[in-house]
Amino acid sequence: MSAKESIPPIEVVEKMSRQERQKYLDGRLRELVAFAYEKAPTIKARFDKAGIAPSAVSGIKDLENLPILRKDELVELYKNNPPFGGLVTVPATDLERIYVSPGPIYDPHHQSETYWRRHVHMVKAMGFGKGDIVVNTWMYNLVPAGLLIDESLRRAGATVIPMGVGNTELQVQVMHHLKATVFYGTTSFFMNIINKAEEMGFDVRKDFNLRLVVIGGEMGGGPIRKMVEEKYGIATADAYGTADVGMIAFECSAKNGMHIAEDIIIEIISYETEKPVGPGEVGEVVVTPIDETYPLIRFGTGDLAGLIEEPCPCGRSALRITRLLGRVGDAVRTRGMFIHPRQLGPAMAKFSQVAQYQAVVTRHGHRDELTLKVELETEKGIDKEKLAKELNKVVSDAVRIKVDRVEFVAKGVIPELHKLIVDERVY
Ligand SMILES: [Zn+2]
Repeated sequence: MSAKESIPPIEVVEKMSRQERQKYLDGRLRELVAFAYEKAPTIKARFDKAGIAPSAVSGIKDLENLPILRKDELVELYKNNPPFGGLVTVPATDLERIYVSPGPIYDPHHQSETYWRRHVHMVKAMGFGKGDIVVNTWMYNLVPAGLLIDESLRRAGATVIPMGVGNTELQVQVMHHLKATVFYGTTSFFMNIINKAEEMGFDVRKDFNLRLVVIGGEMGGGPIRKMVEEKYGIATADAYGTADVGMIAFECSAKNGMHIAEDIIIEIISYETEKPVGPGEVGEVVVTPIDETYPLIRFGTGDLAGLIEEPCPCGRSALRITRLLGRVGDAVRTRGMFIHPRQLGPAMAKFSQVAQYQAVVTRHGHRDELTLKVELETEKGIDKEKLAKELNKVVSDAVRIKVDRVEFVAKGVIPELHKLIVDERVY
């Protein structure tokens, strides 16, 4: 990649005019494509297969000639080209951490400068800095979320309490004792903690020092955010990221859509035609992060959103996307994690007693609930209580969120050509 001195500081990029920004990103994209083609065998193979030379990509406008790298395809690439699917440009021993995401996909934690300046800029732009004590409740093991946010916040000057998920009562005590100023996590978990605090006799307004709650990872959080702001007087902000590319967009104080993070290229693509959608239309978010270690060129996130073209009153010139409006395909985001049919299938294949099954996601209060509906081949000689426990354990391990209940249903209740996972949440 280019010498550091030729890259303008992010504070300069942030205020660039649209034309300047386009020119800047076109240049960075050209460098990224040339570098990735040389260092990442899978990127080279994909360009070659599409019959496109890296030199044919002069800028963002040429991206649409390249195939979209789908999440499902990523899983295949990892399976066929271990350890990193031919997508990581450095050896494993040059990485600081290696995360394990469903698939398995091995996401690299590295120190590429462009990657970290993007993340630090983003949390600063959201108002984090010295003086903040942040309760970070994203998962710290396996997946990138917890450690990625932790490092971004610390680099921005904040103090981080690495709480991770669970331990609701302890979360309440810690938040109170350490006068935490910010909560970072999912909306449902924040509401659990608040409910627990009230149950323990705390007055959230008086006994806590929270000024901001960054809640993301779940769709439909609008009413909860409004309630948090009105009832508890705590500001809320939304942010968007994926395990594969890190953080992608963030909400500024104007709270009208999420700015696309710097050094990220986003296209909004029609999921039927794969062409860019028209103004105001909704499509799939396709991301190209300028990331020299993990150059996922045209990564299809499967998330649906629209583009907001109007200038933002905050003065940042990065375009914004709307809040997430849904998912392409069958994976269902539940309690901030994606549940994929391909995780469920192999787990259920271990149970020969099972004829049909279906995972159903519903919403109860502020929490997503996961029910596993099961039809048995025969009820004869089956200890249902024992089987339910086994199913619960195996499936919870496979999808990595706890199944709330296993429900045995009569034969024929689950239709023949059914979706393996259905989202029945109503917001
Ligand atoms: Zn703004």
